[in-house]
Amino acid sequence: MIFINEHYNKLKASYLFSHIAKKVEDFQGKHPHREVIKMGIGDVTKPLPNACIKAFHSAVNEMAEEETFRGYGPEQGYLFLREAIAENDFRSRGADISAEEIFISDGAKCDTGNLQEIFSMDTRVAVQDPVYPVYVDTNVMAGRTGGWKDGRFEGLVYLESNEENGFVPDPPREPVDLIYLCFPNNPTGATASREKLSQWVDYARKNNSLILFDAAYEAFIRNDSIPHSIYEIEGAREVAIESRSFSKTAGFTGIRCAFTIVPYDCMGYDREGKKHQLHAFWNRRQATRFNGVSYPVQRAAEAVFSPEGREEVRELTEFYLENAKIIRNSMSSLGYRCTGGDNSPYIWVKTETDSWEFFDMLLEKAGVVCTPGSGFGKCGEGYIRLSAFNSRENVEKAMERISLFLRY
Ligand code: PLP
Repeated sequence: MIFINEHYNKLKASYLFSHIAKKVEDFQGKHPHREVIKMGIGDVTKPLPNACIKAFHSAVNEMAEEETFRGYGPEQGYLFLREAIAENDFRSRGADISAEEIFISDGAKCDTGNLQEIFSMDTRVAVQDPVYPVYVDTNVMAGRTGGWKDGRFEGLVYLESNEENGFVPDPPREPVDLIYLCFPNNPTGATASREKLSQWVDYARKNNSLILFDAAYEAFIRNDSIPHSIYEIEGAREVAIESRSFSKTAGFTGIRCAFTIVPYDCMGYDREGKKHQLHAFWNRRQATRFNGVSYPVQRAAEAVFSPEGREEVRELTEFYLENAKIIRNSMSSLGYRCTGGDNSPYIWVKTETDSWEFFDMLLEKAGVVCTPGSGFGKCGEGYIRLSAFNSRENVEKAMERISLFLRY
């Protein structure tokens, strides 16, 4: 008999975004002539930068010729891309990361979800609340939590992020082993200062724990004092793994390319207290389960670091940040307290009312879809997330409609 992994049964029956999609479908069924503007899911709308397209085409042409054709690539990614990342994203900011410490992948979602595999089952896991659901659900699937009780999974440590702490939690009093931190944050749009990140690095060093730092939105940081990488903090090489993505930076959500850094200094421990390089574990995992990202995609990603690519990526992120500013200004002028939207593409809006109630009201009255904050965790209750990933026309129209209906 084939038995199922019963931990899957602990997952909440409906995934946040499918629940939203169902509500929108019902609404459109009832009001077929009303136009709905989706400001919920964070998917990019602008096409790939020209530099990436050119590199992509040219790499596809290479695959058409016997002399330049390539089969399986290295599971860790081609060195040309790993070198470009190490130089441009890290060493240029004073973060000491080598190409060999970078693993190219098909998504930060996959990496942040898969990484828990290399840790023991009794790992004590801490997540921010509100949280990007992937960190939680993958640990639930693995059996590292108890059941769902009062809006949370038993066995996880929830790091409450709220207005009082600026949506950047302090390290907990108790020791935890694996800590998921995401900055700029999805969903709150909050960023973490150097001081805050230093506190976390110190905590991890003291407790021999590991930080999984998700920097998928670092390209949206404009304030020079905010670190882009956790490796800008002294000592982080020993206690942090960082994931990044080309998805939001360069419009790669449909192309798929991301990367994770596992520094050689990062250690895990066995029951005898002996240290093991996590790099070797992750390398083994990837080599066994993953066949690498396709060559043309890696060439397209490399083009992000060319002079033309850099300029185009800057324009792309500027475009979404301008959308974010319009959203934040409109919501603030209506009297809503907002976080994010300045160094991040998400705006976290305090609604005062129940998140799903606000969602329904916005859909019914303005035909605008948001993401209810409570879908990201207990601390998200009373908030909604608005995403800046949309056309300018849609953002302006959505804000006009919200302003109109909220005024009356
Ligand atoms: N990490 C965070 C915090 C995200 O919000 C997302 C996408 O929404 C991802 C990772 C996924 O990135 P990728 O497209 O590279 O899988």
